[in-house]
Amino acid sequence: ASSIAEIAPAIQDALSATRWMSSESARNRDELSAMKVKAEEAAAEVAQLRKALDMASASARNDLLTGALNRKGLEEALEREVARAARQNSALSIAFLDIDDFKSINDTHGHSLGDDALSHLAQVARESMRPQDTLARFGGEEFVILMPDTCLEEGVQTIVRLQRALTQRFFAAGDTRLFITFSAGVAELGKDESPMEAIQRADRGMYQAKRAGKNKVVSA
Ligand code: GH3
Ligand code: MG
Ligand code: MG
Repeated sequence: ASSIAEIAPAIQDALSATRWMSSESARNRDELSAMKVKAEEAAAEVAQLRKALDMASASARNDLLTGALNRKGLEEALEREVARAARQNSALSIAFLDIDDFKSINDTHGHSLGDDALSHLAQVARESMRPQDTLARFGGEEFVILMPDTCLEEGVQTIVRLQRALTQRFFAAGDTRLFITFSAGVAELGKDESPMEAIQRADRGMYQAKRAGKNKVVSA
């Protein structure tokens, strides 16, 4: 070029190309940060869904009133514990509990207080059990407790301890103070016994405890 006037259009071109590149990169930056926000939102949504799924599958295994395992949860826990006991050649004891005179608690104080009493029992049981023990609500006012690594004698002692804990931590609601008691049978799983047979044996022990005057633990 021999004069400024000659290179002016080239400079103009270069300037506008630079301007275009800079606006393009700003646009890319904006797009990128919008995508990042979207990705974060999606990740949060996935985490939320995962949590909901966990809760749904937990509630499929847990009784909503007491937080104890329900029948389905108990079946799974039994399968796990029976397999473990066989693998480790260790004892597994099973207790069957039935609250005494629960109908009269409902009739005297109302069904909703009866519900609270069930939750109370479950809470006290959880506090007095070892972490490896499992509490399940078998039905209405009946509970099953699985005690791994526990022979019959220790199993009976554990349930007697729960009985004592329940008298110490009596159930209070407003002016109402309730002593909840239960009758229980404890069975140690036999070598060739199915877990359901052992539960039935514990259940029969529970009935013996009822016949013997309730608030008792019978080894079955
Ligand atoms: P026993 O000492 O012989 O066991 O007498 P019981 O009154 O405890 O036994 P029964 O089988 O006659 O009554 C059980 C009662 O438990 C009747 C039923 O209404 C009550 N029940 C069962 N499930 C629930 C529940 O989820 N909430 C409440 N509040 N009551 C329940
Ligand atoms: Mg019952
Ligand atoms: Mg009962």
